[in-house]
Amino acid sequence: MAHSLSPLPYAYDALEPHIDAQTMQIHHDKHHQAYVDNLNKALAGTGDEDKSLEELMANISSYAPAVRNNGGGHYNHTLFWNILGNNGSQPTGDLAKAIDEAFGSLDALKEKMSTAGATRFGSGWAWLLVSDGKLVVSSTPNQDNPLMDIAEVQGHPILGIDVWEHAYYLKYQNKRPDYLKAIWNVINWDAVNMRYKAAL
Ligand code: MN
Repeated sequence: MAHSLSPLPYAYDALEPHIDAQTMQIHHDKHHQAYVDNLNKALAGTGDEDKSLEELMANISSYAPAVRNNGGGHYNHTLFWNILGNNGSQPTGDLAKAIDEAFGSLDALKEKMSTAGATRFGSGWAWLLVSDGKLVVSSTPNQDNPLMDIAEVQGHPILGIDVWEHAYYLKYQNKRPDYLKAIWNVINWDAVNMRYKAAL
């Protein structure tokens, strides 16, 4: 099978107390694994088993909904695990400058992304992306993402926040805004800095 689940790049409890170990374990081992398994099932026999996630996303309108949902789920969660971490990093260099130019300050960006996540009805994601060379905040429903040809705002995502209930319900229950406040403590900005450089 072409697609497989990478191990979480840190321990399940690495993001405590902001994101609890049990949530991380279920989220990665069960939810993400299911997206990978169902993506492989959806692609089996289509001739597109070896296409990269990026190739699938760029042409997602021509695939079955199962490829969109599970391919998006696989891409989004892979990104998510990699932009989280408890290393106290901050935006630096060109990214720090671009954030100030686009949003006024890092706090203003956090506010804008948290609002995008809080106001996404049902399940979805909040994104910081590079679109036409500029930093933009957007949100998508379900497992869609800005790489998809059907996305309202298209571009290269450098930071994504999962606002599905499975991402926060054990600890935060109905209080999605509290989760969206806490998650800023565990963003691995080193990884976002690198994604920004790669996206330009
Ligand atoms: Mn999720």
